[in-house]
Amino acid sequence: MELNARILLVEDNEANMDMLKRRLLKKGFEVITAVDGEEGIKKVEAESPDLVLMDVGLPGMDGWETTELIRATDSIKHIPVIALTAHAMAGDREKAKEVGCDDYETKPIDFPRLLEKMNSLLSRGPEK
Ligand code: MN
Repeated sequence: MELNARILLVEDNEANMDMLKRRLLKKGFEVITAVDGEEGIKKVEAESPDLVLMDVGLPGMDGWETTELIRATDSIKHIPVIALTAHAMAGDREKAKEVGCDDYETKPIDFPRLLEKMNSLLSRGPEK
């Protein structure tokens, strides 16, 4: 497990944001936050996080579109993205793949499982 990895959490729901942020901090991650897709993109570019946790249901540009934009931007397209989907919607797996997410997790978040997915991507190392 990569300690002190820097995680960008993009989440518009304050309660979800606080809970997940607290749990990540406890595990030793550095956490940066954004409340919508536009702020998310800006912070990916400015902060170069090691991994992005992307809520799919965001006001304005949703998490799928935001991920597509990350994948279309040369300087940041290598950064792993895990989508956080609100429901176990049929088709989320395909959608996540289609827009270029590395993985996805459904809410309510199973934190140990999310950590496994995060650590698997973080230990993969940078591939530009
Ligand atoms: Mn949301």
